[in-house]
Amino acid sequence: MTGANVAGHGCGSSLERGSVRPERPRRYARILWGMSSAIPLNVGITRSAGAATADPEGKRVLLAEPRGYCAGVDRAVETVEKALEKHGAPIYVRKEIVHNRHVVETLRDRGVIFVDTTDEVPEGELVVFSAHGVSPAVHATAAERNLRTIDATCPLVTKVHQEAKRFARDDYDILLIGHEGHEEVEGTAGEAPDHVQLVDGPDSVEKVTVRDEAKVIWLSQTTLSVDETMETVSRLREKFPALQDPPSDDICYATQNRQVAVKAMAPECDLVIVVGSRNSSNSVRLVEVALGAGARASYLVDYAREVDPAWLEGVRTVGITSGASVPEILVRGVLDMLAEHGFGEVQPVTTANETLVFALPRELRAARH
Ligand code: SF4
Repeated sequence: MTGANVAGHGCGSSLERGSVRPERPRRYARILWGMSSAIPLNVGITRSAGAATADPEGKRVLLAEPRGYCAGVDRAVETVEKALEKHGAPIYVRKEIVHNRHVVETLRDRGVIFVDTTDEVPEGELVVFSAHGVSPAVHATAAERNLRTIDATCPLVTKVHQEAKRFARDDYDILLIGHEGHEEVEGTAGEAPDHVQLVDGPDSVEKVTVRDEAKVIWLSQTTLSVDETMETVSRLREKFPALQDPPSDDICYATQNRQVAVKAMAPECDLVIVVGSRNSSNSVRLVEVALGAGARASYLVDYAREVDPAWLEGVRTVGITSGASVPEILVRGVLDMLAEHGFGEVQPVTTANETLVFALPRELRAARH
């Protein structure tokens, strides 16, 4: 098999056997709390028309960095793996632990039973709550049924829950920008159902009404398009000039960083392939961002086998990225497939360095090594 030649890019992507997490680099052995660097790095994309690429036809791949696993997904997947090690199969997970088909199928093979509601978990058994978070009602139901629980909610989702609780306590109308039906939105809204209204994009602004225009705040789902969210906010502010901003960004660092990297490379790309699942909000957003930033075409695929060779006809520059719930092995598969079709030259497009690592849930903390 032809391997992709990734110029100057050490991604450390080797996977443990049977694991859906990359090996933890030694520098992560300690639990770190630090935000990603926002310093632009290596965004000087060389044009394929010049001598920058070794491929005589000018074919090349631009590989977005950062891409793939974020700190919240890494923690959630490790939580399930450590819970399996500690308690043995089967263990239950409410909803998909993260929105990625490969991750879910791999964990299912290892003895995880995914359920939609805690009612499906036998009394007294162990259930893990997914990275997207749950409402207090779900915690209450689990307690009533004597379930043992481990909460793998991403700390950045928990932060939005805390904001919702705080502003509800102060009797604000909370306009939660997000996608109707998404688990994260259900969990956040469930913290203060009497105060939260969902605003699903700019077109939903028209029907929003509030009790007191002087006490209105917007919050958001963590995985939205930054640009579309700002458009929604600007329409909301036209309607409610006193609208308050959240105390800090709700769209998380990982979502923002992946969108920035795609924006940097998309104008150069005839095609952008986003590796990710269809129910992954941040992955779907990356396709939209790529198209909005000038890519001629963009597709979402779970696996390399879903890449249609017809997409590559007449294409010289392919951009690759992946959503925050995507293991690197799936990106490697796409790179190998592209190399077999003449796209062996790979140039990284790096716009940030991410170093954030979250501590495991308390119940499992001693288990991290
Ligand atoms: S995408 Fe952001 S909010 Fe979601 S799990 Fe990752 S870091 Fe947390």
